Amino acid sequence: RTKERGRNNFQLYTTSMNEDSMQKLSLEGFLRKALGLQEFVLFYQPQVNVSSGEIIGVEALLRWKHPVLGMVSPASFIPLAEETGLIVPIGEWVLRTACEQIKIWHEAGYPDLIVAVNLSARQFLQEDLVEMVQRVLEETGVDAEFLELEITESVTMHNVERAIVVLNELRNLGIRISLDDFGTGYSSLSYLKHFPIHTLKIDQSFVRDITTDADDAAIASSVIALALSLNLHVIAEGVETEDHLRYLAERGCYDMQGYHFSRPLPAQDVEQLFVRGKLFKTEVVPPLSDED
Ligand code: C2E
Ligand code: MG
Ligand code: MG
Ligand code: MG
Repeated sequence: RTKERGRNNFQLYTTSMNEDSMQKLSLEGFLRKALGLQEFVLFYQPQVNVSSGEIIGVEALLRWKHPVLGMVSPASFIPLAEETGLIVPIGEWVLRTACEQIKIWHEAGYPDLIVAVNLSARQFLQEDLVEMVQRVLEETGVDAEFLELEITESVTMHNVERAIVVLNELRNLGIRISLDDFGTGYSSLSYLKHFPIHTLKIDQSFVRDITTDADDAAIASSVIALALSLNLHVIAEGVETEDHLRYLAERGCYDMQGYHFSRPLPAQDVEQLFVRGKLFKTEVVPPLSDED
């Protein structure tokens, strides 16, 4: 009986493997055509400073609107785009589109806005990454100081020496580098000393239960303290509630991103939030004193 069940399990397993690879194959086929068919669109999520209430920047987030599959989440197609190398042309499209948009907003009367663009590991390994970025900035007429590139710790793991060189080149152009999902990777803290990083981005997994889970609270608080003591900018992602906001601000993190302020939105919709201005003004939260 055990043997029989073993065989059945095996069959089930191969069947689902086949379905998986079939699905992957057709997804890959669709993905190859998506750029040419103009099925990609960028959404933008505001980054808010809670003491001024102002939107300081936006993160560009890729969306794929497939006529049949519907809205495909980046979590499901970015890994495939990485695997196939398609992320390289897609990533260049993302950067160019985000820069064109930020230029439009600068000229429309929001001259200080910064745009954050996610960079994947595969893109980071491209020989001509720095030239590509420089070219896109030139062609779109955007000053490098208004571009922030978000990388994850894993991006820098493949080749630390080269990562330092590339990051320094980007930094020398005037671009800010942000460490996304900070705390979820495996980089050693000494990296922070060697990498020219501008911003630490507290991962949303630590923010979610920040007021109820003591470990998450301790990690988030430590990241803030670390950033402040290393003179790095710190921003929290996944801020969904007033309690999240308060907890973070009390510990000295005033820049935030999350559904509490706004979901990622199409360009025209996020622009409505700039127009309304100071929408997110909250009372200034004083830092906790040591006794608290
Ligand atoms: P990420 O860069 O860490 O982006 C933050 C993700 O959290 C986004 O998911 C955003 O929609 C979501 N988010 C924002 N606020 C909240 C909140 O309050 N609660 C919750 N639960 N989620 C929130 P999204 O847009 O689905 O993107 C997922 C990931 O896909 C991104 O994570 C990033 O790693 C990747 N990605 C997105 N766009 C690009 C891109 O243009 N290029 C590359 N290489 N990766 C991208
Ligand atoms: Mg990001
Ligand atoms: Mg993140
Ligand atoms: Mg994430």
